[in-house]
Parts: sequence; C-alpha cells; structure tokens
Amino acid sequence: MREVRVDPLDLDKLARILPSERADSLRTRAADAADRLRGRVVWNVNATATGGGVAEMLQVLLAYGRGAGVDTRWLVLDGDAEFFTATKRLHNVLHGSAGDGKGLGDDVRAHYEAVLAHNLRDMRRLVRPGDIVLLHDPQTAGLTQGLMESGVAVAWRCHIGLDEPDEIADLGWAFLRPYVEQADAFVFSRRAYAPGWVPPDRLRVVPPSLDPFSAKNAVLSVHDVRATLQIAGLVSTDADGGGAAFGRRTDGPGRVRARDSLMVDDSPVPGDARIVLQVSRWDRLKDMEGVLRGFVDHLGELPADAHLVLAGPDVTGVSDDPEGAEVFASCRELRASLPSRTRDRVHLTALPMDDGDENAHLVNALQRYASVVVQKSLVEGFGLTVTEPMWKGRPVVASAVGGINDQVEHGTSGLLLDDPRDLAAMAGAVDSLLRDPALAVRLGAGAHLRVLDRFLADRHLIQYADMFSEMLGR
Ligand code: UDP
Repeated sequence: MREVRVDPLDLDKLARILPSERADSLRTRAADAADRLRGRVVWNVNATATGGGVAEMLQVLLAYGRGAGVDTRWLVLDGDAEFFTATKRLHNVLHGSAGDGKGLGDDVRAHYEAVLAHNLRDMRRLVRPGDIVLLHDPQTAGLTQGLMESGVAVAWRCHIGLDEPDEIADLGWAFLRPYVEQADAFVFSRRAYAPGWVPPDRLRVVPPSLDPFSAKNAVLSVHDVRATLQIAGLVSTDADGGGAAFGRRTDGPGRVRARDSLMVDDSPVPGDARIVLQVSRWDRLKDMEGVLRGFVDHLGELPADAHLVLAGPDVTGVSDDPEGAEVFASCRELRASLPSRTRDRVHLTALPMDDGDENAHLVNALQRYASVVVQKSLVEGFGLTVTEPMWKGRPVVASAVGGINDQVEHGTSGLLLDDPRDLAAMAGAVDSLLRDPALAVRLGAGAHLRVLDRFLADRHLIQYADMFSEMLGR
C-alpha cells in the first residue's frame, strides 16, 4: 500500500462561488462533520493515484475534507500485472463485456485474494477501531471483511455498472458478492447499478462531482489556453502573450514543459482548425476507435476546418489499465492506414502522466479550446469527461448511456446519441454544432448551469458526511 499525499483545500473557496443558501449549508454541515468525526480517520482506498475519474475525485474530495478538519487519507493498492489484468477483466465484465475472455475462475479468485491479503496486512498496521474506510471499485472489494474484523466501519463504492445488467455482468457480481455483502454501506453513482441483493437501508446513490479550482477545471484566459497548447506542441496557435503556468495540488505552481509536438506521429494541429475532441482513457468501452472511424467516414460532410483530436494518457504511465496499450496501438494503426489528406485531419495525443497536474492542465486547455467535445462511450459509469467540458461551457455530443443520461438533457445542455454505435448520427450531431455557433453557445451555457446545479463537490461532500454519520450510528 502506498499513501498519497493530500494537502488541505479551503472549503470556503468553493462556498464563495455557490448560491448563498448552498454555501451556508456547506459550511454548517462541514463543521458538524468535523465534530462527529473528530479522533477518527476516514481512509479511502483505490487502485491508482493518477488516471481515471476515481483518482480525479479523490484528490479533490479528500483535500476539501482535510480543509474542513476531517482526517481524510488516501491509500493506493499494491498489485502485480496478473492482478490488474484480472481486475480489468472484472471491470469489463461488470460493464457487460467479456474483456479478454479469460473468465473469473478459481485461479483468478485465488490470486485476487492473495494480493488483497497482502494489502490487508499493510492496512491493519494503519487503521484503528472506530475509523471509517471507503473502498473504491472492484479492485478493493476483497478488503471489506478483513477490515471490518479490525473494528472499522467499511463502505464499498462501485463507480461502474450497467443500467440493465446482463448475463455477463451477473458473473462479475457473483464474483464480488461474497467479498462485499457484509459492508456497512454501499455507494453507487446510479440506483440502477446496485445489484438486487444490496440491502436498501445500506444503499446510497451518490453521483460524482468536479472541482472548479483544480488544474483540470480552473478558469484559463483565451491567451493562456493558446500559450499552453502552443508550448506543449498540441496546437500551432501563434500564442499571443499568454502564459503556461498552472496551480498544483501540492507544492508551488508549475509550468508546461516545452515540446515540439505532443501529437503522435504528427505535428501540432494547425492554428486555423476547429477541434472536435474526445478525452478518455484508452479503454475499448470509451470507443476512441469508433470516434476516429465515424469522423473519417463522414469527413466529406463536415466543415473543411474540422479536425479530430483523441487525447488519452501516455499508456506507459497507467499501471492499473493493461488494455490501454492495445487500444492506443489500434487507433495509431488505423490513423496510419488513412490516405494522407484524411490523416492530416485526425490527431492522437498520449499526454504525459509523470506530472499529474501538468496532465490536468493540458486536458483543461484542450477542453477549453475545443469547438465540440465528444464522449461516444459504449458504456459509461458516469463520465467526468462529459462533466468537465460542460462546466467549461463547451457543447457536448455524448452517448445516452449510464451516468451521461443524468448529466446531459438533450437539446438543453448538449446533444445525446441514442445509439452510440451509429457513426453517422455522431458525425451529424458534431456537424450541427460546427455549423450553428448560436446553438453551440446555447448548449454550452445550459451545460455549465447543469453542472453548477448538480455536480459540484458540495453536494458530494454532504452526501458522504451523512453516510458516515449513519455508518457510525449502526
Ligand atoms: N483524464 C486525464 N488525462 C487523460 C485522460 C483522462 O486527466 O489523458 C481524466 C479525465 O479528464 C477525467 C478522468 O480522467 O477526469 C476520466 O474520468 P471518467 O469518469 O470520464 O472515466 P473513467 O476513466 O473513470 O472511466
């Protein structure tokens, strides 16, 4: 187990941008939670400190928790390649996809348990009776029992799921159920994701949220966006006076490192192009390849200045996602196979992961620069990659799957794709936004309000505080 450093964030900073009633409620509830939780540690355990939505949220929520006076701490599991290959399979299976098809047999179970037994030993040296542990996702489920035996209250949060679980997903739940069944509380991002055996009195529905002040979402001037993209070698913007500095979660400010090009096998996007962007991990279910195919198959129908950018993490930097390298390689091959005039209109970038704050700032700049942001997931737990551009007032085109349905109201805060495999519909929706700037502005404004209303950290923190109180009361 490895502890991730979390520096406190001032909750008042968040309160100041909220409507006054919400701000007051946040301050009162935070003070109340700090009182109730005094003397206890609230531990969070997940599989990675960088990459993906869970790590994104933990950074923020734990920091606000510390800022409010609650002793929140973050631990990351140790696991070997075999463990993460199996848990990635389990992740896919819970999404109704067989993944690498190698199943979840006794050998998988034995290795899963052995790895978690090792992690449990580490954790038992850290936790004390009366502490609270929030375990995240299938990788950590097997810690539940052992921790409860140590006298701590355990909540298990699953960030993924299917609205209508199928036979494949049932296999995943059969694997997990014995580990988590006794947990003190269960958290899902949507009610539909909770399997029927979760007792209703222990079930909480808590959608994700974002932080407006993190390097991922902080306000940037147009000049700073252009300078950042220019210096990083993402877009040839002829930057005119902006800077490329960003705030860090810990330690002082950072500055984007200069590069000739961060585009793979390619030079930066021309400065006069309009960008259609998808940001995702290189995960099959995010369907980066489908976005690429849809864009190039319908290129003739799109405005001549439209360029596609697919942005994901440098695959060598994400240890808990072994599938990433394969998906990235197929996108790269597909791009290489295109005729040169088509190839020049599509760009892949593998954003460096060695500096998480720089990575976040680059994503921020790309999302703010993009004319349209796409999220054509085939399945999606929630999709912070939709929330983030919505907060930035960008028009989004996103699949009507999972938690995306909770975020985007079609025609008011973005455009939904009923069938995520319909490439013509995706291209048509993108085209409609590129050709109608007034529509793009209206949907972007609606998107920002939607996130302000529902998906900021105050709501999330209050829901957690309520849950912790109930767990301690049990
Ligand atoms: N992300 C990132 N850099 C990348 C790709 C993704 O910082 O190169 C972030 C993205 O901005 C978002 C998170 O990873 O905050 C992905 O969360 P989401 O809920 O969309 O999906 P998940 O990856 O958890 O399935």
